[in-house]
Amino acid sequence: MQLIFERSVQGRRGFRFGDSDVPTKAQVPLKYARQEDAPLPEVSELDAVRHYTHLSQLNFSIDTHFYPLGSCTMKYNPKFTESIARLAGFADLHPLLPQLAGGEKLTQGALEVLYELEQWMCEMTGFKAFTLQPLAGAHGELTGLMLMAAYHKTKGNTKKRYVIIPDSAHGTNPASAAIAGYQTVAIPSNKNGGMDLEALKAAVNDEVAGLMMTIPSTYGVFESNIEEIARLIHSVDGIMYYDGANLNAMLGRCRPGDLGFDVMHINTHKTFTTPHGGGGPGAGPVGVNAKLEKFLPISRVIKRSGGTFTLNYDYPDSIGYVASFYGNFALLVRAYAYMLMLGQEGLIETSHHAVLNANYLMTKLKKHYKLCFDRLCMHESVFSASRQAARGVHAIDIAKFLIDQQIHPPTVYFPISVSEAMMIEPTETESKQTMDHFVEKMIEADELSKTNPSIFKEFPKTMPISRPDEVKAARDVKISYFLPDAD
Ligand SMILES: *Cc1c(COP(=O)(O)O)cnc(C)c1O
Repeated sequence: MQLIFERSVQGRRGFRFGDSDVPTKAQVPLKYARQEDAPLPEVSELDAVRHYTHLSQLNFSIDTHFYPLGSCTMKYNPKFTESIARLAGFADLHPLLPQLAGGEKLTQGALEVLYELEQWMCEMTGFKAFTLQPLAGAHGELTGLMLMAAYHKTKGNTKKRYVIIPDSAHGTNPASAAIAGYQTVAIPSNKNGGMDLEALKAAVNDEVAGLMMTIPSTYGVFESNIEEIARLIHSVDGIMYYDGANLNAMLGRCRPGDLGFDVMHINTHKTFTTPHGGGGPGAGPVGVNAKLEKFLPISRVIKRSGGTFTLNYDYPDSIGYVASFYGNFALLVRAYAYMLMLGQEGLIETSHHAVLNANYLMTKLKKHYKLCFDRLCMHESVFSASRQAARGVHAIDIAKFLIDQQIHPPTVYFPISVSEAMMIEPTETESKQTMDHFVEKMIEADELSKTNPSIFKEFPKTMPISRPDEVKAARDVKISYFLPDAD
């Protein structure tokens, strides 16, 4: 692939600037002034358009490819919500406007969206209040753990040091607990994919600050002992944290607030179709019950008796700000529009279809791949490529094969407690035809692992980068064309 600098032809122009209205003798201190012309590529507009359009197509995205990445819930984002988020009344608001004279009047619509969104989230999850500020699921976890810490501090629970987390948890759970200052205790899973209750009982003592759980778990199964788990944690005044990344499977059928949880986050980019994107944007609203409400971040939107909305900062026990202003407002608008579009019945149907699709794929694939937990799954299922690995074809090789088939690979090597893991989540937005095509390709990979296992080392053949050193790529990122070689 040619880089844009390699397309450069001396003297070629794509755009001409008008005459500068900045005085040419503007006083830029000499040490800041450029001594030579900037090394810019000289290309036409068409060169630039083709270059960047081509680059954009080298990426897999939910708009271009089937994307069954387990745990990530890569569902389609309907374009309707994009057009709502772009309405000038939302997109052009300055975040300081509500605090300026007369500004509150101009932001009533925006404040109402935040207020109603909070109410709806409470209704769907069984919690008392939400903060919409956190900028991602992981950020919501940290916020929730800060609320947990504030609770213990206020109650004088000085011994609290540990947060209990099942071994199937997403890596962000222990990371967030560590950042919040807690040590973590991992609880192994039982043979059904649930939490090992005996191990939990052994770990619970008055130093336990709380427990973080994902339901359905990252194995895609429901935790049937949840009432007992909540009772154990509450018996030592611990806080029950619900990681809501998998809420897509439960929406409208079961509410975390009714299951014994005290605090949760929602990943709007997983459950309510706002874009996922390279670590952001996202939104991770955090819901709490009455125990934790007074610690919520400021500001909070309130409704006056006259029906108008305003921002309230007067919460003396609040943990303060966790994000600038009101969080990722444009994403919250998208989540709101999505809820409005689907309505109650639509949202319930969403979870029915997410679970149906996941079970469809699980049933079709379990003849060919080793299924970890042979029971009804929720929104995703976990396989192991151990049979294929015995032939020399590992989960990563199957992932690379799928890339050449124009399919984004499922999550591989997670959950870490499963060897050769492949976690598959089709989401509710995929058709039977798309899933059948995926199954066909997975069967093809299995057959090929029997007849020609060594060919997998050549995959992917269709990508500009084939098999990068993933650790080095993450640790030693070079994003600039001109970056001098590090030595
Ligand atoms: C995605 C995910 C997270 C983290 O959410 P982000 O929005 O990516 O920060 C946490 N837990 C689980 C189970 C997840 O799937």
